[in-house]
Amino acid sequence: MRISLQLVVQGEGGVPVTVTEIGQFVRDGLDVGSLGLHLEEAKSLLGWLQSTMVAAQVAEAVARTSVCPTCGAQLACKGHHHLVFRSAFGRLSIDSPRLYPCRRCQGDAPTFSPVDRCLPERVSVELQYLEVKFAALMSYGLTVNVLQEVLPLDHVLAASSIRRQVSTLGRRLGAAQATNARQQAEVAEGVRPPEIPEPSPVRAVGIDGGYLRRAGHRPSPHCSRTDDRSSGPHRSWSRRS
Ligand SMILES: [Zn+2]
Repeated sequence: MRISLQLVVQGEGGVPVTVTEIGQFVRDGLDVGSLGLHLEEAKSLLGWLQSTMVAAQVAEAVARTSVCPTCGAQLACKGHHHLVFRSAFGRLSIDSPRLYPCRRCQGDAPTFSPVDRCLPERVSVELQYLEVKFAALMSYGLTVNVLQEVLPLDHVLAASSIRRQVSTLGRRLGAAQATNARQQAEVAEGVRPPEIPEPSPVRAVGIDGGYLRRAGHRPSPHCSRTDDRSSGPHRSWSRRS
C-alpha cells in the first residue's frame, strides 16, 4: 500500500490552487511495527508541512506588498536575501526580497523588505516557550535531546542558544514587571483619596416607636397599648380610629 499526503493551498484573489505532495508512506502487511505513523515519519511530515505552509504564506504576503498601495503600480525589486527563522517544526530559510518604494507616490523613500517588517523576531513564540519550559525542568543539554527526540529540530537547537534564550526572556520579563509596577505606582499617585465629610454637630437617633404624654395627663381613651411589654424598654402605642 502506498499512502500520499498532499497539501492544497487555496489563495485569495483568483490565485491558482497549488497542490504539493509533502509525504509518501509505503506499508506492507499489518503488524505492530508497520501500523500507523512512525515517529521519524511524523517528524519529517511536520517539517515538510511547516516549510510548505511558510513558503505559501510568505509568497502571498510578498505579492500583496509588492504593489504601491496608492496607485497600484508594481514595485521594483532591488535584490533578495534569505533570513533564518527557527520554529518548533524546523529551521526555515525564507526568501526575503528588498523592494524600491513607488517613486511616483513616495519619492525617495528608502528600500524596504516586507518579510523583515512582518518578522521582527526570528524565533517562534512556541519554540521559545518549549525551550524555556523544559530548561526550567532539566539541563540545557537534556532540553535539546528531549525536544529533538519528538520534533523536527535537527540542527535547530543548541544548549548555548537555549541558555541565551532563557536569559533574554528573563530580562524581558523583568523589564515588563518593572514597567507594570511603575505604571501601577503612577496610577496610584493619580488617584485622589476619597473625600470624607466633616462630622455634623447635629446628633440624631432613630427609634422604631414612642409615646409622648403631657405631664399630669393620663393617656387618652382613644389611645391604647398594643402589647403587654409595658415593663420592658420597648413600648408601642397606636391610635384608635
Ligand atoms: Zn504609487
